[in-house]
Amino acid sequence: MRKGTYLPNKPAAVWTSRDRLTDGVIGSLTMILRTYGCSRCRDGQGCTMCGFIRDSAPTPPSPENLVAQFEAAMARRPEGRFMVKIFTSGSFLDAAEMPPAAGLEILRRLDDDPDVAKVLLETRPEFVTSEVMADCRQTIHKKLEVAIGVETSNDRIRLDCINKGFLFEDFVRASRIAHQHNSTVKAYLLLKPPFLSEGVAIRDIVKSVRDVSPYAETVSINLCNVQKGTFVEKLLRRGDYRPPWLWSATSVLRQAKTENPDLIITSDPVGAGSRYGPHNCGRCDSDVANAINRFSISQDTRDLRVMCDCKELWQKAVELEDISYGAPLVS
Ligand code: SF4
Ligand SMILES: [Zn+2]
Repeated sequence: MRKGTYLPNKPAAVWTSRDRLTDGVIGSLTMILRTYGCSRCRDGQGCTMCGFIRDSAPTPPSPENLVAQFEAAMARRPEGRFMVKIFTSGSFLDAAEMPPAAGLEILRRLDDDPDVAKVLLETRPEFVTSEVMADCRQTIHKKLEVAIGVETSNDRIRLDCINKGFLFEDFVRASRIAHQHNSTVKAYLLLKPPFLSEGVAIRDIVKSVRDVSPYAETVSINLCNVQKGTFVEKLLRRGDYRPPWLWSATSVLRQAKTENPDLIITSDPVGAGSRYGPHNCGRCDSDVANAINRFSISQDTRDLRVMCDCKELWQKAVELEDISYGAPLVS
C-alpha cells in the first residue's frame, strides 16, 4: 500500500475512455477497486512486472466498502450508453479477494443500470469455474466479458520470465467455461517480459495472438512498463532490462492484425516516451503512441504508418540483441 491516507470507500483509480467492440466504438468507464490485493501476490508469488500490490488496501475492505467504491466510480460515468471495465489489481472472481456478497451486488447494480451496455471483469483463469460463472450469469444478463492476463501462449516465458504460475491450458479451460456461460473473452498479452531480446519478444507476441485467437474475441497487448518495487525495476536499474521499443509494438500490431483480420487487437501504450515505459528515440514517441491509440480504435493498419530516423536503429537492435544475449530463450 502506498503512503498516504487510506480511504476504504474510494477506488484506487477511475477514468473514462473509448473502446473498440466488434460492433463499433463505445464510451467506457474503467475502475480499479481497492481490494486486499491479488492473493498470489500476497503469498509472495507476485509476477515480475506487477506493482499492483502497492495499490491494495492495508486491511481487507468490507463488502459495503467495495460496493461504495464501485458507486464512487460510477459517479464518473461518461455520457450515454457505455461499457464498464472492473479491475481489482487482482481477480474479481477470487472470492478471497472480492467477497461474493460485494461482487454479486455490483453485478446486480450493473444489470439494473440502463446506460451500461457491457461489463468486463478481470480475473486469473483458476477462478473461472462453472459455479462462479453460473452465479454471475444469474445476476447479470447483459454482455459480459472475462478478461484474463494470459500474457503469452508460451508456458516457459509465462512461468520463468513472468512467474505467472499458470499454464496456457488453464487459460483455454477458463475461456471454454466463460463461453459456455454466454460470455466473451479478452486476452491480455505482455510485450517484452524480462530476459527476452527485442526480436524474441516480438515473435512471441505475434505467435501468441495466433494461439489465443480461437479462444478470445479481443486481444489487448500490454507494452511492459516498469512499475515501482518490482523485479523488472531491479533489472532496469542494473541495466539488464529495457522496456519495448514502440516500433516493436507497431510491428506486432501490424503483423497480428494482418494475420487475424477479424480479431479486435488493441494496445494502450501506458507510460510511452518515458525511460520506464515503451519508448523510441524521444522525438517520435508521442507520434507513435498516438498512432497505436488510433489503430486501437480504427483497427486499420494504415493508422500505424509513422516514420522517424530511429526506426533503423531499432531494426539493428532487433537483429543484434539476438546475438548479444547469447542462446535465445525460445528456440
Ligand atoms: S499480474 Fe495479476 S496475477 Fe500477477 S501479481 Fe499482478 S495482479 Fe497478481
Ligand atoms: Zn524516433
